[in-house]
Amino acid sequence: MTVRIGFIGLGIMGRPMGLNLIKAAYPLSVYARRPDMMEALTHQGATACECPQEVASQSDVIITMVSDTPDVEHVILGEKGIIHGAQADSVVIDMSTISPSATRRIAETLSKQGIQMLDAPVSGGEQGAIDGALSIMVGGKEEIFQRVLPIFEVLGKNIVHTGGHGAGQVTKACNQIVIAQTLVAISEAFILAKVSGVDPAKVRAALLGGFAGSRVLETHGQRILDHNFEPGFKARLHQKDMRISMEAAHEMGIALPGAALATQQLNALIGEGLGEEDSSALATILERVSGITI
Ligand code: NAP
Repeated sequence: MTVRIGFIGLGIMGRPMGLNLIKAAYPLSVYARRPDMMEALTHQGATACECPQEVASQSDVIITMVSDTPDVEHVILGEKGIIHGAQADSVVIDMSTISPSATRRIAETLSKQGIQMLDAPVSGGEQGAIDGALSIMVGGKEEIFQRVLPIFEVLGKNIVHTGGHGAGQVTKACNQIVIAQTLVAISEAFILAKVSGVDPAKVRAALLGGFAGSRVLETHGQRILDHNFEPGFKARLHQKDMRISMEAAHEMGIALPGAALATQQLNALIGEGLGEEDSSALATILERVSGITI
């Protein structure tokens, strides 16, 4: 039997992910709160719905790819939410990046109606979504993970089940901590190079071949050199992800001082009104502190 998929949240990430599912011949029902956001998918054969409840009523698996924790709570548990339309044993896969503890609460609420849930946040950005090459970090029951693995294989390449409910979101928080601090490190390195009369572009080229090389240096390093901060991954979303890490540190009673520093720099970037820029615009905060343009 063909699995019917519902998709809610058709922004930078959700739209190409939905298109890849259509290409893989899955019947797709979609919902976006702005109807024009659905057109790219309905032109390819997706069915437009009026609310998440309607999407859920005609789907076996419902994927959410919205912004933040309250948005996921709203589309899953709110009025006209998924919970009011989903059948027992259907699977809700939340691929947004949200709070691990809220994820566990949502999974618990859904389970009371026999609805399964996986948290499956992603890394790899817009290009990874377009190419079907995302890294997917999954939390939830192993048997449910195995059931929907063919869907993940359409969307991603590196798919890892990291534990029970919330484990995917914890893994994603770890991912964002590493990226934020790497962005700070790259910005500092480029500023030191520039002020020392060494071309930061040549520094990037040299570092890429050694131990300091990374995808962040490759992609965001080039964006910083070009001052091209078209998103990509919006700074306000990275700030949201760091808030999730900070809240987790608070809940668990642990210190994450490096992450806290990067969070403060992202806060300053948002304060400058640059929340819609790519998160690599973080470099501009450090440029201002030192009075140096990379
Ligand atoms: P985006 O372009 O802002 O898209 C988010 C979409 O969700 C928008 O279309 C928005 O609708 C919709 N939405 C938000 N709240 C909603 C609500 N309450 N009800 C219905 N729809 C709602 O963001 P994105 O870049 O695709 O990111 C989506 C998620 O993936 C985020 O959690 C983000 O942290 C994560 N992520 C993003 C990237 C990346 O590189 N972009 C990479 C990895 C993970 P409107 O259009 O009406 O605002």
